[in-house]
Amino acid sequence: MITASYRCAACGRVWRAGRPRWQCECGGHLNLLPGRGFSRGEIAAGEASLWRYAAALALWSPPRVSLGEGWTPLVRREWRGAKVYFKLETQMPTGSFKDRGTAVMINHLLAAGVGPIHEDSSGNAGASIATYAAAAGLPCRIYVPAAAPRGKLVQIAASGADVRAIPGTRQDVTEAALAATGESFYASHNWQPFFIEGTKTLAFEIWEQLGFRTPDNILVPTGYGSNILGLERGFDELERAGEIAARPRFFAVQAENCAAFAAAWSAGADSFVPFTGRPTIADGIATAKPVRVAEVLAALRRSQGGVVAVAEAEIAPALATLGGLGLFVEPTSATAGAALTRLLRDGTISAGQTSIVVLTGSGLKAADRIGELLEVGGST
Ligand SMILES: [Zn+2]
Repeated sequence: MITASYRCAACGRVWRAGRPRWQCECGGHLNLLPGRGFSRGEIAAGEASLWRYAAALALWSPPRVSLGEGWTPLVRREWRGAKVYFKLETQMPTGSFKDRGTAVMINHLLAAGVGPIHEDSSGNAGASIATYAAAAGLPCRIYVPAAAPRGKLVQIAASGADVRAIPGTRQDVTEAALAATGESFYASHNWQPFFIEGTKTLAFEIWEQLGFRTPDNILVPTGYGSNILGLERGFDELERAGEIAARPRFFAVQAENCAAFAAAWSAGADSFVPFTGRPTIADGIATAKPVRVAEVLAALRRSQGGVVAVAEAEIAPALATLGGLGLFVEPTSATAGAALTRLLRDGTISAGQTSIVVLTGSGLKAADRIGELLEVGGST
């Protein structure tokens, strides 16, 4: 029985989610209709994965493919005198937060009868989707920037996916994938609403792991904003069920060199504002043209949080500090540490508050680049 429906953000048309679909006929992007709410009594406590929240997911059958995604550790560390929780999305099956969205998206697509799929990615989503496609037995083609970290390309290739390395910018890679939509289903994590349906379990986990409490602040490295949208959807559902009274502030962290949300935020706009992007070491969030700009900006405003854009020079010190705390992350994730330093320093976040930093990708993804960044040499 298929119950989930999408609404087009551009024309308002409502679509049943019974067949694979990544956009409206008008070209607009689709969002799932609001969930019904989720309460603690519905948690499947025996599941050490995001499937402990299966009752909240808009899927119409139990998952056919799982690699044990979700239920990642929440660890407490000290950061410049403040006690901070780090959410280790690095410890997902493919080493990045993407598995949360991918697992739910792929299970939806399997139930909807999808055939061969393709996707474009800066690397982590490509690795995630290629891995889950392999586990599901789906033929898969991934378009990636030719300049993506080699570890990510190798990870995609190891799954048996067809890897297409595209020269140019991240947007050029997207254009190549869009041009292939006649050949196979475009299983884009940036377009597919079921990807956000998966990332909403991040909200449930943080809430449950804090002892069913709402934190004050959540900092998230942000390219397209799927974690921000997932967090909003998750906390919405908890609020609707009467489980929480207060909502956390969301801080979207971007690299100053390529910061679409920061450009719109500082202009006070509620939609995309043109900006000039430059290369950044934070390759996972170098997004020139996010899909759901208005939705992400609205979620940030509603949460009374904001956007923090960090400079390239702030990223390596944050990465080193995280490493010294036992948290080995890729440069993209280190931006959140840099943002935390800034927000503590300017008083936006106080040491007494409960703050969560979402660490989105493992350092093993980009070990060579981290070595260059930290000027790691062998001792003789
Ligand atoms: Zn439409």
